[in-house]
Amino acid sequence: MIRHIKAARASIEEGSPDSAITKAVEAILVKVREGGDEAVRQLSIQFDNFDRDSYRLTKEEIAGCINTLTAREREDLDFAQEQIRRFAEAQKAALKEIEIETLPGVVLGHKNVPIQNVGCYVPGGKYPLLASAHMTVLTARVAGCERVITCAPPFQGKIAEKIVAAQALAGADEIYCLGGVQAIAAMAYGTETIKPVDMLAGPGNAYVAEAKRLLFGRVGIDLFAGPTETLLIADDSVDGELVATDLLGQAEHGVNSPSVLITNSERLARDTLVEIERLLKVLPTAAIAGKAWDDFGEIILCDTIEEMLAEGDRVASEHVQVMTRDPDYFLENMTNYGALFLGARTNVAFGDKVIGTNHTLPTNKAARYTGGLWVGKFLKTCTYQRVLTDEASAMIGAYGSRLCLMEGFAGHAEQANIRVRRYGGRNVGY
Ligand code: NAD
Repeated sequence: MIRHIKAARASIEEGSPDSAITKAVEAILVKVREGGDEAVRQLSIQFDNFDRDSYRLTKEEIAGCINTLTAREREDLDFAQEQIRRFAEAQKAALKEIEIETLPGVVLGHKNVPIQNVGCYVPGGKYPLLASAHMTVLTARVAGCERVITCAPPFQGKIAEKIVAAQALAGADEIYCLGGVQAIAAMAYGTETIKPVDMLAGPGNAYVAEAKRLLFGRVGIDLFAGPTETLLIADDSVDGELVATDLLGQAEHGVNSPSVLITNSERLARDTLVEIERLLKVLPTAAIAGKAWDDFGEIILCDTIEEMLAEGDRVASEHVQVMTRDPDYFLENMTNYGALFLGARTNVAFGDKVIGTNHTLPTNKAARYTGGLWVGKFLKTCTYQRVLTDEASAMIGAYGSRLCLMEGFAGHAEQANIRVRRYGGRNVGY
């Protein structure tokens, strides 16, 4: 039996964003499409209290940002980028291109072609999320994209120096100090300053995620990567302090960030509630994490591991941390998750910042149909074909012609017929 020890007070509309957000985003998109740079400038003043003539950072400004890093910070950043690069390179190496002869004389293949122009968004409204620079820019670079540009908002009215340093070290070609919907719109539509991109990538708040969703079609997008969510699946092999720390550690992302615990231990559920109260008294980000926990936090008690699995798949969370005696049961059987964190030794913060897997992950149930960002998202798998012999052309042509006529396509049929006549020296038998 499944029951709630703590239920959420509010609910996030599943699968589609709040209509007020959609309306606000649509209005900003129109402004940028029609007004270009000047509209972007006004929106930056309005939303980010930031104004300058050009949002593109100069080489000198970028070098200055890199110079603000202490030796320790530089080493930490380099370490994180190296882990992300290594995993992305391994993923790329595992991608296969194929070419096979499916019938005598019929050759089919596919190639993985990098998307040429990519715009990477690095969020930075509430926290300067410099890790998103590695996750997006570096991954696009490993994929082989020709032009990789990147936008991040100013932080507290100033250029976010450490984000800029991370963007530059990850290999960005152009860096803009520009946030929110205006950044997403400027990269997609282009302005007098920014040449438009073919694809947008990167996480962001509900406005950013909605802007990407609305622009899909005009440009490609990586995935729906909105406000962070976390799910913990735990049994009595762990304690309430660890679980509470991991729930609040992600709830601090924003007041709309859900954290959910699924457990088969009523003791762990009760201990976690006590520990959350205790931690909220000392956590510096308690104002955000506490509100997120009050509104969207849940503790779901199940009787069996099978129920925990089914509930986990129903929640379809961005991050799923498994702290049970046999975490591999979930690796083998779970289907709806952005990323799995298996066992108590690892956790979502490792994945967010340093371990090497990508932190740009699906939210709001998008985990039902996609995984997170990876090199493959920056590649187009494009097919090609060749027919090597006259016999193969005439044989495929005869089948093709009859199938075209079944659909009523006379012109298509003639494309096939002419090849049957030329390469087979006969007419198609119907
Ligand atoms: P952000 O950069 O995404 O958004 C800041 C921008 O939002 C500002 O520059 C401003 O222009 C715009 N904005 C703010 N209020 C607005 C309004 N009322 N109308 C229109 N635009 C407005 O930074 P953030 O707000 O700190 O959010 C970062 C988000 O990214 C968090 O929700 C976090 O959970 C999420 N995140 C998600 C993932 C993922 O993979 N899913 C990973 C990391 C972070």
